[in-house]
Amino acid sequence: MKGILINYDYCTGCHSCEVACKKHLDLPKGEFGIKLSETGPYAYEGKPKGPDKWEWTWLPVVTKACDLCADRVEKGKMPMCVQHCQAWCMHYGEVEDLVKQIDGTTRFALFAPKQ
Ligand code: SF4
Ligand code: SF4
Repeated sequence: MKGILINYDYCTGCHSCEVACKKHLDLPKGEFGIKLSETGPYAYEGKPKGPDKWEWTWLPVVTKACDLCADRVEKGKMPMCVQHCQAWCMHYGEVEDLVKQIDGTTRFALFAPKQ
């Protein structure tokens, strides 16, 4: 089973994956194959100064429209979203291989859409 792993601690919220996917799927206004969500910014009460004081998280969410770029990957190409990620924080492959990258040092999200 194939999937997309996102190391979202490194996502900059640039929207490139979103735009690249919309172009690939030729979706109308308001529909997305992958959609960026934003949490924050806000400061956690009671936490001292430092990087964990603040929450400001970007995470692209893969939607039901995603076909894992079947036509591209069968030609040996990467999915459009992965290829256009400016931060190189998206990875495509077998789910069982992707989970091996989850090492607990940063935050990951794994999407395994229906195929
Ligand atoms: S794999 Fe393809 S269809 Fe799925 S979110 Fe990425 S660009 Fe869109
Ligand atoms: S292209 Fe990469 S860095 Fe930009 S919003 Fe998508 S996942 Fe984040």
